[in-house]
Amino acid sequence: MAFEGLSERLNKVFSSLRGKGKLSEEDVRKVMREVRMALLEADVNFDVVKTFVKTVRERALGAEVMESLTPSQQVVKIVDEELTKLMGQEAVPLNKSKHIPTIIMMVGLQGAGKTTTAGKLANRLKTTEKARPLFIAGDVYRPAAVEQLKTIGQQLDVPVYDEGTDNDPVDIVRNGLKVAEENKNDYVIIDTAGRLEIDEQLMEELNRIKDLAHPDEILFVADSMTGQVAAKVAQGFDEQLDITGVVLTKLDGDTRGGAALSIRSVTGKPIKFIGQGEKLDQLDVFHPDRMANRILG
Ligand code: GDP
Repeated sequence: MAFEGLSERLNKVFSSLRGKGKLSEEDVRKVMREVRMALLEADVNFDVVKTFVKTVRERALGAEVMESLTPSQQVVKIVDEELTKLMGQEAVPLNKSKHIPTIIMMVGLQGAGKTTTAGKLANRLKTTEKARPLFIAGDVYRPAAVEQLKTIGQQLDVPVYDEGTDNDPVDIVRNGLKVAEENKNDYVIIDTAGRLEIDEQLMEELNRIKDLAHPDEILFVADSMTGQVAAKVAQGFDEQLDITGVVLTKLDGDTRGGAALSIRSVTGKPIKFIGQGEKLDQLDVFHPDRMANRILG
């Protein structure tokens, strides 16, 4: 289960405070040392942990004494609020263009879930807005990627513009956008290539696609199982492409929390959606407060 270790650790720490009348400075310091350990073990970025712990400690030691809560409840409340803040405070909607089509470009490392998420997003737009999206198959390096997108297109009854794997993806995107214009599609979702790690040639290609398509949304798809590495990779993509949002995938697995808790803080970019399964309807809007509640168990 996602966040299992972190939830258990935090609950144990907080339960040690239960029954205490008033927390001494030493109590708070001790608890925050444990919280720090729990976050680091969940693979949260070191600087993120440091700032988080400092903020919570200062608030817990500060003046805000609420009569209605026990000291341990107060600490839990502060941690809850700060976790929510760390993940962006509020849900951030998908960017939308004033004129159709809204262009969404999916980027990320190979295997992160780009193609699957492209499908989930189209499915979501279809069901929530009755949208008429078009996919553009821009991942010409992974032989199965075009086929995978076509299969998803068939399942969802969403057209796929592809030119196989022999042409330059920038040309494919240019031609695909023309088709979208002719057919008055309201969304275009561009699937792009990934690599096993950040690679200059790939970034150059993605930038050429970006310059051509002027996407309203560049969604970085991050595998939450990779922990804080996901945040580092997101930062790399953001530096090169100025991403507009993040989709965190595989939150149905036993991810520890490092990606969810680091990525917003490291990149400054909002997590917009979370993937919670392999099926095409398993994409949800990301709500920082609900995620914080889930982490706190
Ligand atoms: P791409 O290389 O980035 O296009 O990645 P794919 O879309 O091909 O996904 C890689 C693998 O991750 C596939 O087996 C997907 O079914 C799986 N996957 C993607 N998103 C999720 C998710 O949210 N949960 C789970 N459990 N698997 C996912």
